[in-house]
Amino acid sequence: MSIIQREGDWMLCECGNEPHTDGFFTCDETGKIVEPTLTEWTTNLYVCVRCGHYFDYDTFTTVGITDDETTHYNDNYWSNYQ
Ligand SMILES: [Zn+2]
Repeated sequence: MSIIQREGDWMLCECGNEPHTDGFFTCDETGKIVEPTLTEWTTNLYVCVRCGHYFDYDTFTTVGITDDETTHYNDNYWSNYQ
């Protein structure tokens, strides 16, 4: 299943999230947000923080949906930077 659309660098999730609204973040294989560095980000995955879908950046194929614990972690991660 692929729910994400992409045109060039632009991304649109099926939930309506776009880069300039809630945005997308680099994440690990469980959908947990990580810093976009070579050492931390080894999965090529992005997570939509609005609906929790995370997906492969090259194929835009959905890998999974974050569980409650990871969703909570991501929500807190984001609030630390606001
Ligand atoms: Zn979404």
